[in-house]
Amino acid sequence: MSTFQAPKGTYDLIPPQSAVHLKVREAFAAPLKAAGYGYIETPAFEDVALFSRGVGESTDIVTKEMYVFETKGGTRLALRPEGTASTVRAVLEAGLHKAGNLPVKVWYSGSQYRYERPQKGRYRHFWQVGAEAVGAEDPALDAEMIIMADDAYKSLGLRQYRILLNSLGDKECRPAYRTALQEFLRGLDLDEETRRRIEINPLRVLDDKRAEVQKQLTGAPLMRDHLCEACKAYHEQVRELLTAAGVAFEDDDRLVRGLDYYTRTTFEFVHGGLGSQSAVGGGGRYDGLSEMIGGPALPSVGWALGVDRTVLALEAEGIELDLPAATQVYAVPLGDEARRRLFGLVTELRREGVATDFAFGGKGMKNAMKSANRSGARFALIAGERDLAEGVVQVKDLESGEQGPVALDAVVAELRARLA
Ligand code: ATP
Ligand code: MG
Repeated sequence: MSTFQAPKGTYDLIPPQSAVHLKVREAFAAPLKAAGYGYIETPAFEDVALFSRGVGESTDIVTKEMYVFETKGGTRLALRPEGTASTVRAVLEAGLHKAGNLPVKVWYSGSQYRYERPQKGRYRHFWQVGAEAVGAEDPALDAEMIIMADDAYKSLGLRQYRILLNSLGDKECRPAYRTALQEFLRGLDLDEETRRRIEINPLRVLDDKRAEVQKQLTGAPLMRDHLCEACKAYHEQVRELLTAAGVAFEDDDRLVRGLDYYTRTTFEFVHGGLGSQSAVGGGGRYDGLSEMIGGPALPSVGWALGVDRTVLALEAEGIELDLPAATQVYAVPLGDEARRRLFGLVTELRREGVATDFAFGGKGMKNAMKSANRSGARFALIAGERDLAEGVVQVKDLESGEQGPVALDAVVAELRARLA
């Protein structure tokens, strides 16, 4: 072991488990590619004000969790804690919304940074795949988002998750609700910090995880009873479209989520096997965000799915993903001439799409065969001077143990056929 360890709250993705992470990212991306979303990548750090304005001054993310630093040039930057604000910033900066083809549909895959109290499923460096549809207001777009995430989780074989759905209203109806909620909350027995939150962002108090707070919230006014006609109709359409698509969801009046920019549709995917870090993904509509960061009005909807927690959910359900073998063929040369010939074959096999590895480092036969077995390869290619003189290599099936000679010029085709 070296003197150094991964920083607190982080972990290394290492093989073979890293293959599961990659597979999860691919599963999240698949429905997006099938629905017209293009890939976007933004810097890992941004102007700190993008997040304080975009994510919201009163959120945990901005007040407690951001990694903020000053550059040598005196600019205040933050490591990105989430992907939506950066994505909308990039869309506006590139003028993608002006191309006349709204919504702008983009997806990203990347790590996020939050200074949190580390525990299982809660890290300071974690991975999200996200999707954003910028510049359209349409219940079908909200439904599309939820259906894509549901399809992604289903494609991984996950079963023990629920979809929670709520509407947070819009600028017509939320202000009156906010006032009603504030009046209710001011009458409760709460600590100083929470009392301050009542004045800045009272909805967030509903999201408080502490039992002593939740207990007092039983009679709190609900957004559902304050939605305007437009929001009610919009939400009803989202629900109908989800039902028609066979997506099972639950109405959750208390679902508010941690970010300030959400309006109307909000949703969360929660998994039953993860304890208190149960949210595997979430998102919603954020009609005000673009204007908050200086852009035009661009009603939008999106989600971010947590890769780390989804991997934990797979473990909790005992799901083993069907992963392609990292190595299909392993070549074991005996002697210098065999090394040259086999290395040539290895290159050829790789170019033909067969995952092939080689006994590097001049290992002896016994050691090399051990490596072949450990590599997970189905076949070993073994050749010594005598084989080469006869124009063959030995092909050993590492599952059955059967071994036989194959002509050198036929071995690539032979292996491809046997692996197919
Ligand atoms: P939580 O309530 O658990 O803190 P959140 O509301 O902060 O979650 P979002 O900002 O909505 O989470 O991020 C979307 C997803 O990213 C979450 O559902 C979760 O799967 C994942 N995620 C968020 N924070 C972390 C973290 N610190 N470590 C690992 N995954 C995370
Ligand atoms: Mg959080």
